[in-house]
Amino acid sequence: MSIIETTDSYILHTYKRFPVALVSGRGAELVDDSGKSYIDLGSGIAVNTFGAADPEWISAITEQAGKLAHSSNLYYTEPGAELAKLLCEKTGMSKVFFGNSGAEANECAIKAARRYALHTKGEGHHNIISLKGSFHGRTLATLTATGQDGFHTEFGPFPEGFVYADPHTPGDLTRLAMQDNCCAVMLEVVQGEGGVNPLSDEFIKEVNEVAEKYSLLVIADEVQTGNGRTGKLYGYMNFDLHPDIVTTAKGLGGGLPIGAVLFNERCSEALSYGTHGSTFGANPICCAGALSVLKRIDDKLLSEVCRKSEYIVNELTGAKGVVSVSGLGLMLGIETTRPAGEIIAGCLERGVLLLSAKNKVRLLPPLSITMEQLETAVKILKEELSK
Ligand SMILES: *Cc1c(COP(=O)(O)O)cnc(C)c1O
Repeated sequence: MSIIETTDSYILHTYKRFPVALVSGRGAELVDDSGKSYIDLGSGIAVNTFGAADPEWISAITEQAGKLAHSSNLYYTEPGAELAKLLCEKTGMSKVFFGNSGAEANECAIKAARRYALHTKGEGHHNIISLKGSFHGRTLATLTATGQDGFHTEFGPFPEGFVYADPHTPGDLTRLAMQDNCCAVMLEVVQGEGGVNPLSDEFIKEVNEVAEKYSLLVIADEVQTGNGRTGKLYGYMNFDLHPDIVTTAKGLGGGLPIGAVLFNERCSEALSYGTHGSTFGANPICCAGALSVLKRIDDKLLSEVCRKSEYIVNELTGAKGVVSVSGLGLMLGIETTRPAGEIIAGCLERGVLLLSAKNKVRLLPPLSITMEQLETAVKILKEELSK
């Protein structure tokens, strides 16, 4: 049986896959089982920050694998300690909790916000305000936090305590916050799965006002926008926003599963001894890989991200077949005249891998993609867009 046939026979059919079996790669170049190569503009959904088979990342994880792959959190290990220290130093946050994925990071943030409110405001302030159009994960709580009705079917009963504000209706967030039963506002500064839509400065202002007035924690879900993706280390750094809790995952591990929740001084005691945990949390190999990624997200890399972003935006804005370009840094959405699926399929055929988000074509290339690769890919994309 081929890879595709075996997969379809034995793996649950929860994904709509492209008819390609990838076997190897180097940076932004990926190779399938027939030897055909592709320029990757998806990074395994914003995960492969430095592309495939990145030498520095490989040496970090293999060295750690040769020493100690796993220990559990019953003991101390160095990679997790160093990664937490670097995350705090680079963001000004105070404490970190490690898990294994974005959804788990958001679960942790939700638990922390509720416990913080219980201890600071008393009972009855458990509501999390999330935003319409958001995506926060696939567990029951994070599905419920996801502000899209399509996710709220078939798996009920859903957990209580989630309400949804429309970021495009001024005052809607305030209306919910005023009800005095909330503990936090949870948001993505650029809604990724929701269509690569940045929040407006006016809405961020409203977030800051209600957070102050009603003592709400601000939770920034940086699972997709984090780790250099938007041209800043974390997406919120593009805005006048100062979250109390930051969740991240995807690109942090550079290809291995890791999630992190960052707490500022105010709520660094929200989860105390015995209140939360994860067997694989701070796994030494994942943390060693993440350290090798995070260390390299410096001003030089971030200005490269901005330069590449400008190149793509300039090439595509006003191009034939393009209605609009949205997003920040190397997290871009293209609204197209032809159905996005047709463009993505056409590009795949010609060796360029793309993603979709709602009705848009979505680009999340490795941050290290070369200008030459980008030029080739954008040329093909423009030809497909203009058909
Ligand atoms: C992908 C994503 C998640 C879920 O992350 P998993 O690692 O798949 O659990 C949560 N929030 C946002 C914004 C995401 O893009």
